[in-house]
Amino acid sequence: NGMLALFAETVEQAPVAISITDGKANILYVNKAFTRVTGYAPEESIGRNESMLSDKNTPKSVYEELWRRIQSQQTWHGYLLNRHKDGRRYLADLTIAPILSERNETTHYIGMHRDITEMY
Ligand code: FAD
Repeated sequence: NGMLALFAETVEQAPVAISITDGKANILYVNKAFTRVTGYAPEESIGRNESMLSDKNTPKSVYEELWRRIQSQQTWHGYLLNRHKDGRRYLADLTIAPILSERNETTHYIGMHRDITEMY
């Protein structure tokens, strides 16, 4: 129990934007850094799809490749142009990984990203 609370608090305060979704990218949890980076508070993001961050100019093929990888239970890492709540675009260095059940079925995904706009 002490360890569980520590895990939860560690994810909450981790210095990288973290979100946990269901199998269709509907958001179940966001940490503090996610709110800092995206502008969306938990109550504004939980229940919505990660596609709320999508800049609609990204080629569909990029997302298709992403989904192909994570649906085959692999980790995807790449760079996406995201849209902050205030409308500003930012470059996201993003990693998405499947969370597997004991029966090796994908039940959730974890997304982790940083705003790397200033590095370019
Ligand atoms: P759409 O037209 O909805 O999708 C484009 C293509 O992606 C589709 O043609 C299809 O091939 C594929 N696709 C979309 N949804 C699904 C699905 N549920 N199952 C299978 N294939 C699908 N996107 C971002 O832009 N920024 C992020 O920071 C981001 N973080 C994510 C974090 C996690 C944990 C996950 C699981 C996904 C994340 N995504 C993110 C992807 C996001 O869920 C959308 O797929 C993406 O933004 C495209 O949405 P769209 O509405 O622009 O395009």
